[in-house]
Amino acid sequence: MESDKKLAWGLIGASDIASTRMIPAINAQPDSHVVAVMSSNLKRAQKYAVDNNISRAYGSLDDFLNDPEFEVVYISTTNELHLSQTLAAARAGKHVLVEKPLALTYEDALQMIESCKNADVIMGTNHHLRNAITHRKLHDLVADGAIGRPLAARVFHAVYLPPRLQGWRLNKPEAGGGVILDITVHDADTLRFILNDEVEDVIARSTEQGLASSGLEDAVMGVMYFRNGVLAQFHDAFTVAHAGTGLEIHGTEGSLVGESVMTQDPIGRITVKRGSLSEEVKLEAAEDLYIRSVYNFNQAVKGNGQPSATGEDGLKSLAVGLAVLESAKTGHQVKVRHQ
Ligand code: NDP
Repeated sequence: MESDKKLAWGLIGASDIASTRMIPAINAQPDSHVVAVMSSNLKRAQKYAVDNNISRAYGSLDDFLNDPEFEVVYISTTNELHLSQTLAAARAGKHVLVEKPLALTYEDALQMIESCKNADVIMGTNHHLRNAITHRKLHDLVADGAIGRPLAARVFHAVYLPPRLQGWRLNKPEAGGGVILDITVHDADTLRFILNDEVEDVIARSTEQGLASSGLEDAVMGVMYFRNGVLAQFHDAFTVAHAGTGLEIHGTEGSLVGESVMTQDPIGRITVKRGSLSEEVKLEAAEDLYIRSVYNFNQAVKGNGQPSATGEDGLKSLAVGLAVLESAKTGHQVKVRHQ
């Protein structure tokens, strides 16, 4: 029966994130599977296809997009390619899940969203963290007023970039390298999701602590100011091996403290604190973040709901990242672009 047919996905980019997280997540769904991969190098595509049990390999974007065997495309190339590849995929009538940062400029991301709208295809951004049970719980607790009015947030997202990823992120400004476009955009997206609010302006200081080169930053600290008055401090780095991650929301009636929550794995815990009371929050069974991302995208393609993070979410979170970049460069407070 046609309705039992699995959704077929094609991959643009023979990347690490696709092989480590997204291919397993797509193939874990009862209703989807990966059938094709495209790389700029056909030999690499063929080897990647064999290694990841994918039946079709392409070295040309046109040939790949002319393949009628799949209707969804996942783009996980380096960041400067997301724009042209999304436009081409939309023109070919494929639904598109794009990695973050969506693009290198606000205008480019806007163009991607508009081209998907005009082509009547679903577009999503792979901001995985809002799929975590911990962040979803934080979102619900804040919305339910569990800590009163939120006043402040703190994000601890300084990690050590694994050696296998120490490439373009550290030395290719033209590919959108640097910790701000890599990690700060995730902080922005997660806080936007938890607080259900938008960032008005930012101030930031970045530096280079021994891993990055070519003018790129590998560490940044700063403050995002949200429309409802929340001040959110963030620390993102590729250079800090031992800090662990976390996200805290402090309100008029209590605090929510998330430990080990800024991560790709379905781990972490949340504690609620009020005065001397400190109680761990019960969480439902943790689900793989990428499996949930794919599940929601598949559902959206079938007409049920929206991707976990839409194209617009990708744009808004990118806008915060771009403002942080500008603030770190100029030393000034920068307003976040909203249109
Ligand atoms: P990779 O460096 O693994 O892949 C990016 C591109 O580099 C690939 O498309 C590939 O080009 C090329 N490449 C990879 N390995 C090789 C190699 N051995 N030799 C030659 N070329 C190679 O990047 P990531 O997977 O780390 O990141 C890809 C995208 O995903 C980025 O946009 C990043 O921001 C995002 N990302 C998102 C995460 C999330 O959790 N949401 C986590 C990690 C990354 P080609 O396809 O042409 O062969």
